[in-house]
Amino acid sequence: MAQDLPNGFTGFSQRRPNGFVSASAAMGTPRYVGAQPPANGPAGSRGAYEAATAAFSSGAEGAFQYARDHARPDGEPAQFDPDKLRLIPDIDRRWAWTEIDLNAIRHNTSAVKQRIDNGVRLMAVVKADGYGHGAVRCAKTALNSGADYLGVATVNEAIELREALVNAPILILSQPPETAIPLLLAYKVMPSVYTSEFAIQYAEAADAFGVRAPYHLAVNTGMNRIGVRHDEVVEFMGQVSFHRALDLVGTFTHFATADSAETLDFQIQVKRFIEAITALRTAGVNPGIVHAANSAAAIRYPDVQFDMVRLGIGMYGLHPSGVTRPMIDLRPVMSVHARITDVRTVPMSEGVSYGMNYRSPGSVKICTVPVGYADGLRRGLSGRTDVILKGQRCHQVGNICMDQCMFEVDLRVYGSRRRLDPLIGDEVLLVGREGDSVITLDDMANTLGTINYELAVGFALRMPRVYV
Ligand SMILES: *Cc1c(COP(=O)(O)O)cnc(C)c1O
Repeated sequence: MAQDLPNGFTGFSQRRPNGFVSASAAMGTPRYVGAQPPANGPAGSRGAYEAATAAFSSGAEGAFQYARDHARPDGEPAQFDPDKLRLIPDIDRRWAWTEIDLNAIRHNTSAVKQRIDNGVRLMAVVKADGYGHGAVRCAKTALNSGADYLGVATVNEAIELREALVNAPILILSQPPETAIPLLLAYKVMPSVYTSEFAIQYAEAADAFGVRAPYHLAVNTGMNRIGVRHDEVVEFMGQVSFHRALDLVGTFTHFATADSAETLDFQIQVKRFIEAITALRTAGVNPGIVHAANSAAAIRYPDVQFDMVRLGIGMYGLHPSGVTRPMIDLRPVMSVHARITDVRTVPMSEGVSYGMNYRSPGSVKICTVPVGYADGLRRGLSGRTDVILKGQRCHQVGNICMDQCMFEVDLRVYGSRRRLDPLIGDEVLLVGREGDSVITLDDMANTLGTINYELAVGFALRMPRVYV
C-alpha cells in the first residue's frame, strides 16, 4: 500500500506486473577478466552490444573517463551478457506499448470479404507500417484471411514485406522515382504508373535485365492527386504500349469522397472511370485488374467493386467515416497501454505539467504514464482525453509532454465509482475497452478535428508493439 506522506511522496510501493523481472536478474553473473580486456572484447563476437560498448574497453576519450568514474573499488570492469540483455523485452524497457489484436484483423478482413462478390479480389493496404499496426504481421494475417494483393505507399515498404518473405503481389499506390526502378524489378514490386517517361524507363530497365515490367495504370477521375486524366488514357497507352516489356496488370482510380454523405462527386468519378475503362477496351487495350474502391466504397457501393477492392482503414477495425458504422461490424485492432510510473498527492491549487494550466483540487492523486506527443498522444488532447484505470475513466490533466503525461484519480467516492488506489506499475489504457469503459481513436480524432487514420499512424511513432 502506498503511504501518503505530507510532501506528496507515496513511497516506493508498486505492483510487480506479470512477468516482471528485475534488471539485475537479467544481467547474469558478472565475470571479471582483469584490468585489461582483450582489444576485441571477450572471446566470441558479441555483435551489436560489443560494438556499442567497444569504446569503453578501448579507452576512447570520454568513454574512458566514464569507465574510470564508475569503476568498482577493485577497479575491475563488469561483464554483461549481451544475450541476457537482449531478452529484456521492449515493454519492460519502457512502460508504454500498443497491442495489436490479429484476431480482429481476421474478423474485419472476413467481414469485408463477405460483402464483396465471389471472384472479386481483396487488396490489403498496409502502407505507413500497416496504418501504425505493423505492416508485416498485418499483411500475413490478412493474406491468411482471404486477401490476395498488398498495397503500400513506398518502395521501402514493399521491400520490407519481401524481406519478411511475403510472396503476394505488391502494388505501390504511387509512381516512385525512376531511380528506384532496379529495386522494383529486383524485389518484384509493381508501381502505379502515370507518366510516359517513367513507363519507358521502367520498360527499358526491365529489358536490360531480361524481365517483364508489370504495372498498374493510375487514372485521375477527379481527385486530382495522381494519374493519367480519365479522358487521356487511350492516348497515354498509345505513347507507351509499343514497348514489349511493359505489362499492364491493372487499371485503377481513387475516390475522393467515397466516405461522405454527399454522393454527387463520387458518381461523377465512377462515370469517368467506367468511360475510361470502356475506351481502353474499345482501343484494344486489356486494362487487366480493374479496381477503384477503398474501404468506404467497398462497404457502401457494391457496384464499384470491379475486379478488386482496396481495403485499408476497415481492416484495422476503424470506420472511414460515420456513414459506414451501421453497415458493417468492425473490431478495433489497436489498443494503447501504459503503466503508471509515478503517483503523488498534489496539494490543492498546485499546478501540474508545463504551463500549470491544471490546478489540483486537492482531492485527487496525480499519476504519470510514460506516453507523450512523441508517441502519438497528440498535445492537442491535453485535458481533453481520458485514461482507463481498472475499468474506470480518469481525466488526463495538464499539458501532454513529449514523453509523459499525467492523469488524476478522484479520491472522492460518488455514483457507481469505486475508490481507486493507484500504484506505480498499474496498467492503464489510453485507447481501448475495459469493462464498460471505452476510449476510441474516433473519440480522439473528433476532439482534435482530424481522422482516426492520423491517430493510428501516430501511435506507431515510438511505442513498441505487442501482437495478441
Ligand atoms: C490508402 C489508400 C487506400 C485505402 O484507403 P482506406 O480508406 O484506408 O480504405 C486505397 N487506395 C489508395 C490509392 C490509397 O492510397
